[in-house]
Amino acid sequence: MSPSRIGLFGGTFDPVHAGHLRVAQAALEEACLDRLFFIPAARSPFKVSEVPSAGRDRLRWIRLALAGRNACEVDDSELRRGGVSYAVDTMRAYRKRYPEVSLLYLIGADHIKTLPEWRDAIELARDVEFLAVPRPGESHVAFPEPFRGSYLSGLPCQVSSSIIRQRVRCGKSISGLVPAFVEEDIVNRNIYL
Ligand code: ATP
Repeated sequence: MSPSRIGLFGGTFDPVHAGHLRVAQAALEEACLDRLFFIPAARSPFKVSEVPSAGRDRLRWIRLALAGRNACEVDDSELRRGGVSYAVDTMRAYRKRYPEVSLLYLIGADHIKTLPEWRDAIELARDVEFLAVPRPGESHVAFPEPFRGSYLSGLPCQVSSSIIRQRVRCGKSISGLVPAFVEEDIVNRNIYL
């Protein structure tokens, strides 16, 4: 059966963590998505001065994290495209591949206020609906016109990739914050040290 509601989850995923997985679960359940694509960015437009971990590592961690989650898939197109990854380019590719579907773009609530700054914001606002997940410390803000979106419920989760990287640098455990296989890979290969 062809999908009618597709979720797009863009991010740096350096590394993928329990917060991302919670967002995915909430979106699948509450927004009735048929499929959800995790789309790791080559470079985030909002983090151009930061060099992320190698794309192949971030991809592998996402694949490990999604094992057994049948509705979720990894899309490496932004990594293959290289350069700064803009959501609108990815959205256009999905629109071409799935002309009839509803595209729902997942974001943390911290990104809502930045939407007008996204490349080709008007086109993006016309073609996708946003799903926001609360993040701790972020109050519910309205989606700026002309963006359309709604909030997913679910408890805000403190985890972020930067907290994880920082904990590894300080020699602290990341157990429970990332899937076990991802933790093992990060620790065994001295990633973030
Ligand atoms: P960093 O700490 O390095 O900035 P991050 O944890 O925010 O990274 P990203 O991969 O940049 O992770 O985020 C991808 C998307 O997931 C963003 O829209 C972000 O807001 C959202 N997100 C990340 N963590 C959470 C969380 N704990 N709860 C809700 N949304 C989240």
